Amino acid sequence: MRKPRIVVLGAGYAGLMTVTRLQKQISTSEAEIVLVNRDDYHYETTWLHEASAGTLHHDRVRYQVRDVIDNNKVKFVQDTVEDIKREEKKVLLGSGEELEYDYLVVGLGAIPETFGIPGLHEHAFMIKNINSSRQIREHIEYAFASYNMDEVKDDSKLTIVVGGAGFTGIELLGELANRVPELCREYDIDYKKTRLICVEAAPMVLPGFDEELVKYAVAQLEKKGVEFRIGTAVKEATETGVIVGKGEDEVEEIKSATVIWAAGVRGNPVIEKAGFENMRGRVKVRPDLRSIEHDEVFIIGDSSLMINEEVNRPYPPTAQIAMQQGELTAKNVAALLKGNNDLASFTPDLKGTVCSLGEDDAIGLVFGKKLYGTSASFMKKMVDNRALFMVGGPGLVFKKGKFKFM
Ligand code: FAD
Ligand code: NAD
Repeated sequence: MRKPRIVVLGAGYAGLMTVTRLQKQISTSEAEIVLVNRDDYHYETTWLHEASAGTLHHDRVRYQVRDVIDNNKVKFVQDTVEDIKREEKKVLLGSGEELEYDYLVVGLGAIPETFGIPGLHEHAFMIKNINSSRQIREHIEYAFASYNMDEVKDDSKLTIVVGGAGFTGIELLGELANRVPELCREYDIDYKKTRLICVEAAPMVLPGFDEELVKYAVAQLEKKGVEFRIGTAVKEATETGVIVGKGEDEVEEIKSATVIWAAGVRGNPVIEKAGFENMRGRVKVRPDLRSIEHDEVFIIGDSSLMINEEVNRPYPPTAQIAMQQGELTAKNVAALLKGNNDLASFTPDLKGTVCSLGEDDAIGLVFGKKLYGTSASFMKKMVDNRALFMVGGPGLVFKKGKFKFM
């Protein structure tokens, strides 16, 4: 008789936490564990803004999946998940292979949400993965490098627009604000000709976050040259820039060679293709993290949706939650395998939020305490190092960790 097979989709925070915990909880005689990921590496999604701005090399942001899993216990398959045939309990892969499962853990993450805004897919850049981050970095560098080559100078090459002032937009602006002066020195460009513009539809930056901390973040970024257009929505991306407006009447085009869309996410498209009931690609899950429709399918990380009953709104898609869900999922899958159907419920243990403003600055609300500047920045690096530690132990922290604290 075939051993039960557990298939985990995605080697992101949720998937890797599941696998690295599961491999310790079950033996090879009890079940087969298969991990599927598009690349042979894991990337720290939470560091992609740094790779995009070019303040951290993309190789620092990734590591080999096989280096952190127990290869005697887990079969790693590098392939793309195309679809999930839920009734047949099969995963269809890009290679054409079909993978049967007895238990499935879906941890495929998110993609940028574009809300149907025209031109974004064609003309804007988005932070999705290593490839898109590397492309953004290269594109900005090329725009600066070619500026002085033109007889008639095109200042839009030196204008970068970031759409969205959520945590991703703000963290990206922090990095770009540090990177632009470096690029000016490297390519003999007058810094005064550069522009870094943030367009945010809501009436404030980081909507809903602590106002005092937001004020600090805005002041720090403005000091480094960032222009904020608040209460202003991106309406369209064009070949020459971006059309923004406060309402129907006040519409203008900002000429820019680099428009980066960083205004929210939706669940992985595989979720919709597979026909799971979803809200913007996210599946509402039971307290034990299983799909409501299937007893054998767990959905975790950014592709899942759980309501925070205190505020009657979904928990935000974060790495903090994805990792905790991975830990619990490993426990629950192991329980099911051992015939125990009394599964544990997920309660997020939210420690706080830290938002970087470049390498040397940050804001944070941690255990209810407000943090600014270097102390927040130190905390942010600790959080980043902790994520490495949780998956790969001290060896991985030593290899990839952040140790420059001032
Ligand atoms: P991911 O970590 O994104 O992993 C998904 C995995 O699935 C990837 O390895 C991907 O390659 C793989 N995959 C996707 N599609 C397929 C497919 N079809 N076939 C095979 N493999 C596939 N959250 C925080 O808590 N703190 C932060 O500081 C923070 N900073 C952030 C900064 C940025 C710039 C961004 C973009 C997000 C940040 N977040 C942060 C949010 C956080 O990154 C996500 O919530 C987290 O990555 C979700 O984890 P996940 O495992 O669901 O998805
Ligand atoms: P978000 O949804 O948190 O923010 C998106 C922002 O874009 C919002 O402020 C929204 O008003 C704005 N926006 C939407 N449409 C717009 C338009 N047409 N024009 C201009 N602005 C528009 O999304 P995000 O920042 O991508 O973050 C995604 C998730 O990742 C969130 O859950 C976030 O908490 C998490 N994250 C956390 C950190 C951190 O903890 N340091 C960092 C990055 C991301």
